[in-house]
Amino acid sequence: MLNGKIAVVTGASRGIGKAIAMKFAQLGATVVINYNGSAQKAEEVKQSIIADGGRAVIKQCNVADYDACEAFIKEVIDQFGRIDILVNNAGITKDGLIMRMSEEDFTNVVDVNLKGTFHCIRFASRQMMKQRSGRIINMSSVVGISGNAGQINYAASKAGVIGMTKSAAKELASRGITVNAIAPGYIETDMTNVLSDKVKEETMKQIPLGRLGQTGDIAAAAAFLASDEAGYITGQVLAVDGGMAI
Ligand code: NAP
Repeated sequence: MLNGKIAVVTGASRGIGKAIAMKFAQLGATVVINYNGSAQKAEEVKQSIIADGGRAVIKQCNVADYDACEAFIKEVIDQFGRIDILVNNAGITKDGLIMRMSEEDFTNVVDVNLKGTFHCIRFASRQMMKQRSGRIINMSSVVGISGNAGQINYAASKAGVIGMTKSAAKELASRGITVNAIAPGYIETDMTNVLSDKVKEETMKQIPLGRLGQTGDIAAAAAFLASDEAGYITGQVLAVDGGMAI
């Protein structure tokens, strides 16, 4: 149970982040729904949490913007006085083969997926250190473990998230803060719906459990890592991928 906890979920307007926000609210947390551009969708997430009897607020912030993240986290602390759980879920893809990848597409993906994760850890961990408790969960990817043709930018950002997770886990452990990563496989969301049927068929062949992942699969893992029961787990990468990374 997450009763009384304040949980910040970045990129919670859609997909995996939305499922995590809804799950945390069901478990009793007050959820801060972060989004970048999808204001209407963030509002829908908030309304469905409230309709279920949960608590949620919305905060817009582009996690790639260092100063905006400082203001965002400060607003949360001013409003609630603490942050118990931070889920760095916001992420984007801009796929392309190496020869065609622009510097801009490389930088944008790293800025959101990797630097965005650093920015939120940077500001939230200060508060968690004062509390001497906290849970940080970073969204990596199976691609950050195995690599993927056409995703040199995304794979680098997600492998970076793993290094960041382990480093932050070592640095923050003495203050009672755990830091773990989840490495989803192929999860059905807007991010993967754009892929061609051919790519989907090829991916299916690489999933031993023989089905695509659902957002609820990731939300369940996040709920466990955020729970009191996971208090002795830190610096780990939990693959939730139907066996893809084996
Ligand atoms: P999605 O459906 O495309 O949703 C992405 C979310 O991130 C949206 O809520 C979006 O908000 C938010 N976002 C994007 N850029 C942002 C920014 N600069 N600042 C703040 N929020 C931002 O993606 P998803 O499939 O749920 O993926 C969620 C996470 O899981 C990502 O980190 C992704 O890399 C990772 N992941 C996904 C899969 C998969 O198969 N789907 C597999 C492995 C890892 P707005 O709409 O408001 O912009």
